Amino acid sequence: MTTALPAKGRPSADVLADLKGFAAHDPNYKEGRLWSLVYYLDETYADFQGEAYREFSSANGLNPTAFKSLKRFENEIIAAVAEMLHGTPEVCGVVTSGGTESCLLAVKTYRDLARTRGVTKPEMVLPVTAHVAWFKASEYFGVKVRLLPLDKDLRADAAKLARLCNRNTVMILGSAPEYPHGSIDPIEALGAIALKRKIPLHVDACVGGFILPFMEMNGRELPLWDYRVPGVTSISADIHKYGFASKGASTITYRNLDYLKHQMFVYQDWPGGIFASPALLGTRPGGAYAAAWAAMQHFGKSGYRDLAKRTTQAFDKMRQGIEKIPELYVMGQPTGPLLAYGSCDPNVNIFAVGDQMDEKGWNINRLQNPDGLHAMITAIHLEVMDDYLRDLQQAVAVVKANPALANSGSAATYGLMSHLPLRGLVRQKVLDIFAQMYKAGGHDFDLHAPAAPEAGLKGQMMAVVERLAQWYVTRQQQRKSRR
Ligand SMILES: *Cc1c(COP(=O)(O)O)cnc(C)c1O
Repeated sequence: MTTALPAKGRPSADVLADLKGFAAHDPNYKEGRLWSLVYYLDETYADFQGEAYREFSSANGLNPTAFKSLKRFENEIIAAVAEMLHGTPEVCGVVTSGGTESCLLAVKTYRDLARTRGVTKPEMVLPVTAHVAWFKASEYFGVKVRLLPLDKDLRADAAKLARLCNRNTVMILGSAPEYPHGSIDPIEALGAIALKRKIPLHVDACVGGFILPFMEMNGRELPLWDYRVPGVTSISADIHKYGFASKGASTITYRNLDYLKHQMFVYQDWPGGIFASPALLGTRPGGAYAAAWAAMQHFGKSGYRDLAKRTTQAFDKMRQGIEKIPELYVMGQPTGPLLAYGSCDPNVNIFAVGDQMDEKGWNINRLQNPDGLHAMITAIHLEVMDDYLRDLQQAVAVVKANPALANSGSAATYGLMSHLPLRGLVRQKVLDIFAQMYKAGGHDFDLHAPAAPEAGLKGQMMAVVERLAQWYVTRQQQRKSRR
């Protein structure tokens, strides 16, 4: 299915009608059926964001001296975030296009800071649950990862941190909360070690940054994780998550300019002019900054507290509801707004439960190590929580009555991919899938579809791998049921 540029342009009304049509096949996030990726409230708010975005959709933040409006948005956003995170007046930062950009920048910054003291083989300590963006940063910037194991509650195990640090350690990471299970890492304990070893500590609050402060204001007891912890040197917080800004807005702040200055890029000899850039992008999307600023002004503390209150209610309801289903358990000690749950019954395959939920029209992410289902809870989920929990209870009952469901549908594929010990093969398989999607004339990938007949030798090899994996998973299941 290749589509050439239309020879003759089309009226905008036709094009817009097409766009609306395409969305029909996307996840149903407007009614709270999707449990990741999207932060949505209602059409009125979406229109408000759209309008703010449109006002500045052509504006470019590339050169912060050109568009005074954009620099103003950036200044005000960063100042508000610094206050929200209990920073001193020294805290400074940059608006970025998303959490990944913020994370990449932190790694670049700390690698370059360490270069000034002669570190040529940089390393960083990441908890096992660090967001994938950090592993991407490791690959992009050549900073070796040392993995910090988790404690029994799935938080970074601070007791094991010191022995992973050495002269090449350029930074330590903690998350507030981590994405997979919603646990807040013990930032105070990590901070004490970071301070003692004089190693920067970044807190990844990409997902938590715009909700935890308001949960705390509402009276929820949370461990300290922001600039109140002395060892914390920088924090990433996404506005396009719980800040409810249009996609394309995050922040990275640093305790002071001594850190931030290592993020800057300058090239003074370019024929196009002297070039300076504070972040990863060249052209920076003015619309996203305007929409983010507008979101923060619209909600203010009271609005965000209200959203946090509804989210917390939904979270508590979900947690209690899952704990009432004897075959399931909630992983770790999540404080909200995310959680994960798995099965504690050998006859209930959690991925098969996920398939049943899919059939009921829910859209839920799968986790591995350990196997589980995931929920990123927002305010609109409060309204669907009763339905969700009722369907979940039914899904568990169906799977329990039909344990063979574990070997069919996407449960089989997920099980296979997460349990195959040969991780290099899994990686290869995923790269293959992406190659199929992104090759010239590439197509959608459907987890349920059989392998393409034109897959060739490589495809046949992968089929062998799949059979091998299938055999391995079946054997594991047999062992488990014998126990
Ligand atoms: C979402 C997230 C990121 C990455 O942010 P993107 O905006 O998706 O690029 C990083 N860290 C954590 C903890 C996240 O939840």
